[in-house]
Amino acid sequence: MKNEPKILLIYTGGTIGMVKDYKSGSLKAFNFNKLLKNIPELNQLNCDIDTVSFIDPIDSSNMNVAYWVEIASLIEVHYESHDGFVVLHGSDTMSYSASALSYMLENLSKPVIFTGSQLPIGDLRTDAKENLITSIQIAALQEKGRPVIREVGLYFEYKLYRANRTTKINAEHFEAFQSLNYPPLAESGVHLKVYKENLLTVRRSKKLVVHKNMCKDVAILKLFPGLGEQVLEQVLAIPDLKALILETYGAGNAPTEEWLVSQLKKATKKGIHIVNVTQCSGGGVLMGQYETSEHLKKMQIINGKDITTEAAITKLMYLLGAGISQKLFKSVFETSLRGEMS
Ligand code: ASP
Repeated sequence: MKNEPKILLIYTGGTIGMVKDYKSGSLKAFNFNKLLKNIPELNQLNCDIDTVSFIDPIDSSNMNVAYWVEIASLIEVHYESHDGFVVLHGSDTMSYSASALSYMLENLSKPVIFTGSQLPIGDLRTDAKENLITSIQIAALQEKGRPVIREVGLYFEYKLYRANRTTKINAEHFEAFQSLNYPPLAESGVHLKVYKENLLTVRRSKKLVVHKNMCKDVAILKLFPGLGEQVLEQVLAIPDLKALILETYGAGNAPTEEWLVSQLKKATKKGIHIVNVTQCSGGGVLMGQYETSEHLKKMQIINGKDITTEAAITKLMYLLGAGISQKLFKSVFETSLRGEMS
């Protein structure tokens, strides 16, 4: 018997496995077995592929914490028996899910590759086949019998990224994702080129720990010129709110108006963690560079540095779920746990 890598394909839903309902014209999920029938090329890959599907595949706009736990549990159950995992997922919330999984799977030493597509697998001009086939190839990559990628990745349109660095930037281009603050982990052309210097280094001796407690008492507020005092006040008054991501301008800047300062001060006194994340797609927060962020720095607002909003909100959910103490929370958040910040 050939000793080929064993890959588990987890189908959660998304366009990749959708068909058109010709009556209404809308796309809806279809039976996963049909997905594999559409790609006979999969039989040519040098790996063993097992498949498992959500009972009711979803459009990823319906993604939630319970589904994340379901994906994490599937990986946990099959972790010893399989060498790599490919998660088929709608692109809309893929960066959130893949970021969440990067925290939930502590000490991961095997590849978990998220992928999807902009066009359904059955479409003539589909991007689904390339994304799926190359993702499986990446998950099956081994050197001296060990997986090459040992982290959660996101593969789309010829590039493998660190998942928790990605953002969906385009609703119609095949190049739907970008990782503006971290270079790709691999690129697919005539050859599959892995940039080893960009990969996460993990200690293989440590056992996988799966965290399933993600706290939902979190919120995101995007600043805009004209944001009213009442809006901020109401958000911070949400019962049980434990943390808020403030999406600020540029390098982490915010109005210096008195009402904003006093609202934020009151919230931090109540124990609500406020995280400063830039609303720019690239670059990061540099608190203190401008006068308009000096006040946030003085208030001990958490510095999100160059983290994406997707990686920040899921990191909050993970850290709060893990019960990190009030005292340590700021310094733990400001530390890169899975390569999500520089
Ligand atoms: N709405 C779809 C989803 O996220 C889009 C996609 O699959 O890319 O599930």
